[in-house]
Amino acid sequence: MSTNDPQQQSMIREAMKAIAERRPGRTKLVYDKTKRTIVAVAQGAQIPKALDITAEDADMFAVVSLSTAWLRENISRLSGGKLSISLSSWDKGDAFTQRGLGALSSDYIAEGSVSLGKTSAFSGDQSVSVAIDQVADVRGVERFTFLAPNGERYLVKAWQKRANEEEVLEVHLVDVLPAIEERRKGLLESSALADSTVLCIGLGTGGAYIAIELAKCGVGNFILVDPDRLSAGNVIRHPGGLSQVGRKKVNVVQDLLIEKNPDVKVSIHPIATTVESAEEMTPLFRAADIVVCGTDNRPSKLIVNKLSVDAKIVALYGGAFRRAYGGQVLRVRPRHSPCYQCFVSAMPEEANDVEIASDEAAAGISYSDRPVPVEPGLSLDVLPIANMLAKLALLELIRAKPSSLNVLQRDFEAPWYFWLNRPEAGTKYSSWPALSESIDEMTIHRWYGVDLPRDENCSMCGDFISAVAAEHGIDLQSLANVQIPSKPLPF
Ligand SMILES: [Zn+2]
Repeated sequence: MSTNDPQQQSMIREAMKAIAERRPGRTKLVYDKTKRTIVAVAQGAQIPKALDITAEDADMFAVVSLSTAWLRENISRLSGGKLSISLSSWDKGDAFTQRGLGALSSDYIAEGSVSLGKTSAFSGDQSVSVAIDQVADVRGVERFTFLAPNGERYLVKAWQKRANEEEVLEVHLVDVLPAIEERRKGLLESSALADSTVLCIGLGTGGAYIAIELAKCGVGNFILVDPDRLSAGNVIRHPGGLSQVGRKKVNVVQDLLIEKNPDVKVSIHPIATTVESAEEMTPLFRAADIVVCGTDNRPSKLIVNKLSVDAKIVALYGGAFRRAYGGQVLRVRPRHSPCYQCFVSAMPEEANDVEIASDEAAAGISYSDRPVPVEPGLSLDVLPIANMLAKLALLELIRAKPSSLNVLQRDFEAPWYFWLNRPEAGTKYSSWPALSESIDEMTIHRWYGVDLPRDENCSMCGDFISAVAAEHGIDLQSLANVQIPSKPLPF
């Protein structure tokens, strides 16, 4: 587009200004296919073999993203003067995002102001100026306008100050909630899950991923439980990044959820799931519709099992096998399907095969002096399991609600699911046929649902007392007046 012709230069400047201000100018830019270059021509001129260049093609200005909800709420306060706003400044001034649109902000915060009028109104150190002006004719500029509570429509313009020069900013008005709900329509009634509450225990890679996916589906309430802080070693797999290292995972994940849905309600509990904390955690189970257990040790899973069976809420347990060569998912519908205790009794080998992703997990299963190596698998291999958990949680939450997704309920009836990422050497799966060769044999990269029997005499979900009484010939009727203490935790 470089040219030495002063008349072309001034026409190009005029056309660019018109593009930036979204108005018809005296000149416009076209791509002349014969000359193979961009030239400015008089508006209305028809040039054969030339393509009009629109504002979308140009992308030559930095962008400011402003919250429509904020503008609507604050416009009545503007009559007296200007209001300050602060904006995240990204990529050396290429993008400004009004703070409060999400939970996170940039390192450098730009100060700005909003005032009524058609022109910029910089003062002090402000680097962004936003002007809003009532407009009657919105043709061609509708997307730069918003409807105020008084029924009037306003046009929004913005500028940034760089090296004492004012540059036009392209305005993006962000109406977060309608925009999010519009995208969700089709598969889910947009507000179907707004009242649902998910209790997430354990916010490692899988737990954090599941919470974020469920927030994207529209789940409105989360209870997050994890005592750990994000470490640099976690970041390679965890949705949290290096800039979050050192923060408690409950806080990191809370911010990531708000980044996906500003309306989400999150309660955070940086506590470990132990016998001592079981009483403190009981109300969390009563408040939830479903529990997703992503902890990496058996004692905590058994506590979650007891508390969810007692609270009669569905619990999902996920786990990767060592070095994530595969994984499994267990769904417990209390007293209708096997609980975690039933699973441990029925499939001890599968319950034992766990990924060792942290020092705590290694210590938890190291019963001898021989150290257990920390051998985490790839995030890529953990995510299929997390994805299955998120899908099962979603299906459980919509079971009693109208949704076309309920067609899947018959496909996910089994209580236990099993997935293999690779035919790991040294396991009973090492001789599985290649994925490409198998038609009807079991292979990697397929989910298998397995129907497990529930242990009627399970100490956790079954009629354990009756079973013991029958075994020892005790007549329970004769004990009717004896207070039987509540069941102790099984260890
Ligand atoms: Zn059981």
